Amino acid sequence: MNYQAVIGLEVHVQLKTDTKIFCGCSTRFGASPNSQTCPVCLGMPGALPVLNRKVVEFAIRAGLATNCRIAPRSVFARKNYFYPDLPKGYQISQFELPICQNGHLDIEVDGGVKRIGITRIHMEEDAGKLVHSDVPGLGSGSGVDLNRACTPLLEIVSEPDLRSADEAVAYLRKLHQIVVYLGISDGNMEEGSFRCDANVSVMPVGSTTFGTRTETKNVNSFRFVKQAIEYEIERQIELLGEGGKVVQETRLFDPNSGETRSMRGKEEAHDYRYFPDPDLVPLVISNDWVADVALSLPELPEARRSRYRSELGLSDYDAEVLTATREMAEYFEACIALGAPAKGAANWVMGEVTRALNEAGKGIAECPVAPARLTALLQLIEKGTISGKIAKTVFDEMWTSGKAPEAIVEEKGLVQVSDTGEIERIIDGIMAANMGQVEEFRGGKEKVFGFFVGQVMRASRGKANPAVVNELLLKKLKG
Ligand code: ADP
Ligand code: MG
Ligand code: ZN
Repeated sequence: MNYQAVIGLEVHVQLKTDTKIFCGCSTRFGASPNSQTCPVCLGMPGALPVLNRKVVEFAIRAGLATNCRIAPRSVFARKNYFYPDLPKGYQISQFELPICQNGHLDIEVDGGVKRIGITRIHMEEDAGKLVHSDVPGLGSGSGVDLNRACTPLLEIVSEPDLRSADEAVAYLRKLHQIVVYLGISDGNMEEGSFRCDANVSVMPVGSTTFGTRTETKNVNSFRFVKQAIEYEIERQIELLGEGGKVVQETRLFDPNSGETRSMRGKEEAHDYRYFPDPDLVPLVISNDWVADVALSLPELPEARRSRYRSELGLSDYDAEVLTATREMAEYFEACIALGAPAKGAANWVMGEVTRALNEAGKGIAECPVAPARLTALLQLIEKGTISGKIAKTVFDEMWTSGKAPEAIVEEKGLVQVSDTGEIERIIDGIMAANMGQVEEFRGGKEKVFGFFVGQVMRASRGKANPAVVNELLLKKLKG
């Protein structure tokens, strides 16, 4: 029997707000345990939550960017369960009335486009963290760090529209790029700012009834998501093939073995005894607020890519690379706005600039060569003042000294020589010193042409205009 996989993802995105969702404590990562806590996030009786407006704004941003409907009225609910790092005994989340619903993302798969439904996006608070084994000052055991308690999360739930691990990864990458572009999350997967629960089931090909799903929790890299889903598909198919049954359960992925294993039986929504949180009034969002947020959204990667293709004439590949991060796209566009030629700017940003940044371990936002400087350099090439090759030397000098390209060219005497008289003199000298090769060329061995070009360029210390050199050299060699 052949099987078809069905996948739906729940993604938790930690929001980049300065303070927590229901109190004023800092959300900074890595502070000493419990130093960023107060009666609200410690779950003290009588302490009351106050909603952080920024969290709502970020949720609206995410909803608009994923084509969701923003609910004019949504409600916070208590999700009850016991965890040692959840002092209240419940998590404040949203249940029946989430802030965003009915969205979608289009992903590119196998050269086509596929629409993946987004069921809902809701806001919730994160739990604290258990620190196992060596707790400083306590010896071995477990400690509770509540710095993370009450930090804001969005949970983005997809429809079960994905049909393979590759589609799931494509969807996840797209979602990740969007939340980072929107500036609502740092997207740092290692720190857990973007993590995914993968729901997987299989059904016979041609069937329309979904199989029983398992949910693999908190997978925090694209590679692990692919591995976990592939493992789970294979495990379920094998199980069914042996006449077994998939049980609905929560599983854990082990990056070391590449396998998933059972963690606990799957709880149902009614197990959590959800009910509206009486400490928080329903959240009412005006159309004006949504409209304001819509106006403030940055242009998203998909729109940018198509504009680069249609307006700037760039290839799919160039458009894709240049929009990979918002910072890179903005750097590139700053060059264009200052008058840089599109193709030249694209090549340089993807080439020299990226190479130098990688070598220095820097992001493009910290690039020592500002867009205005790179543009000036590109214009020197365009005007023929310097060759593309010399420009690389000038670029390296700009990188270290911070000087303007014109000043470097001037100082170091790097202006390209296009004067035919001067180039002719060099060619004559080289030919006179290499009569043997001249004869070879004239005898039909055209390969030695490259030798002459090299000699002339070297004699001019790289400054001779290559087009002029080629033209004059050919004329003279042919006699
Ligand atoms: P829960 O919190 O109980 O996991 P949610 O409704 O939040 O429930 O999320 C369910 C997720 O599982 C969604 O992403 C949905 O697309 C996915 N899903 C539901 N049924 C199946 C199925 N049969 N196979 C694979 N994924 C499924
Ligand atoms: Mg779930
Ligand atoms: Zn607090």
